[in-house]
Amino acid sequence: MLALLYVVLPYGQLASIVYVLTSVIAALSVGFAAYSHRQLIQPLAWKLIASALFLAAIGHGIWYWLDLLGLSPFPSAADIFYLAVYPLFMGALYVLGRRKGHSDGALSDALIVGTSAAVLGWILLIVPYQNNPELSTSQLLISAAYPVADLILLPFILYLVFLQRERILANSFLLVGMLSYLAADLLYAHGNLVGWYAPGGFTDSLWLLSYALFVAAAHHPSASVGTRTRTPNSELSQRRIVILGIATILVPTVILFHEGTNTEAVKVAAFASILLFLLMMHRMAGLLTETQRQAEAVERLSKLDPLTGAANRRELDNELAREMARSERHDAPLSLAFLDLDHFKAFNDTHGHSAGDALLQEVVTAWQEEMRSADLLARFGGEEFVAIFPDTNRGQGRKVLERMLELVPYGQTSSAGLVSRQPGDTADTMMHRADQALYRAKDRGRNQVVCS
Ligand code: GH3
Ligand code: MG
Ligand code: MG
Repeated sequence: MLALLYVVLPYGQLASIVYVLTSVIAALSVGFAAYSHRQLIQPLAWKLIASALFLAAIGHGIWYWLDLLGLSPFPSAADIFYLAVYPLFMGALYVLGRRKGHSDGALSDALIVGTSAAVLGWILLIVPYQNNPELSTSQLLISAAYPVADLILLPFILYLVFLQRERILANSFLLVGMLSYLAADLLYAHGNLVGWYAPGGFTDSLWLLSYALFVAAAHHPSASVGTRTRTPNSELSQRRIVILGIATILVPTVILFHEGTNTEAVKVAAFASILLFLLMMHRMAGLLTETQRQAEAVERLSKLDPLTGAANRRELDNELAREMARSERHDAPLSLAFLDLDHFKAFNDTHGHSAGDALLQEVVTAWQEEMRSADLLARFGGEEFVAIFPDTNRGQGRKVLERMLELVPYGQTSSAGLVSRQPGDTADTMMHRADQALYRAKDRGRNQVVCS
């Protein structure tokens, strides 16, 4: 409302008061949201934005006071407050995106697009007016400081764009607010350099619009919702690739257009191209690391039984074949055992299926701790397991198995059938004899080891 009023009012004392008042109210309102008891996702970010708005409000106060007194408000103390806004905004955007864990692609992507936009912004908005003779050095320096600060701010804004996959309305308000602030800044910089800027117009209203959007963002319920799914490094959508592609191509294109005419622009564009190239390489390295990590995880999981974490049938087959061959080659002993929990059906029936699952998991953990690292414990199916003991003869195997049987939790027991490799054995014959030995252990009253 106040923002609208400002645009409608002719520029003067009243409009200035409306403007300063609007910014103070915006600062108070965001501050209230940050300090009230609502569960904002990142209260620190909103506190930073509130502080930034306060500084801006002070800047506005000084600016209008000087302007109405007939003194030149630019450059002045107001600029100090205005410029202090940027680090606070950057901090807020960074905090909103920050999360523990490994780095993700969003930051690299923001830097890539931000670098490209910065070069274009510099060439289009700053270079043509750098040699304006009507401006004093301090005016030039300070007017250059705004667009430079904006261009540094841009990657932080883009970071938030690339970060959010689910549209969070509060973040969208914040984004549009930031972009509107940026647009107002650039228009102001341009208008100041070329001389068309006058207070009370469209540019000022863009600033007020951004304040209104910050207030809306801080008070929107989604600012306190914890949905913060993020784009992992591995995820690179087609659209993102197109955006990154355009961003990296734009800068070298500048070199083509400025070759021979503006050496400074060519130098900046060449430097930015190198930076973009390095950022892209960094992004690709991140992708590669992530892909390798996932491949390793898949490889690991493909060998394990999902419930217990013991080896699965496939891994058992592979390992047994390998150990048989090794044992033959080195003429080393090799033992193999079938283990089967006793009366497990009854345990399930009395305590429930999930208690049965827990028992299976605890048995595997306990048995694996008892076994050497070279041994293998595989889940053969249901409550049946196969253990492979390389370099272990039958006597040694029996001792290990007896210790393992004592470790079955919840007062339950297990039976085991043990074999050791004989000349001419294959994996199948060994498994078959171990299975027979297990049946004998069951026949003889369970809770014991029987050797083939
Ligand atoms: P025995 O002493 O003769 O081995 O008797 P048992 O009850 O242990 O053997 P049986 O083969 O009759 O029953 C095995 C039970 O194991 C039946 C099945 O419900 C249960 N079972 C198989 N897989 C799982 C599992 O993944 N989780 C749970 N909780 N139970 C399972
Ligand atoms: Mg059983
Ligand atoms: Mg069984």
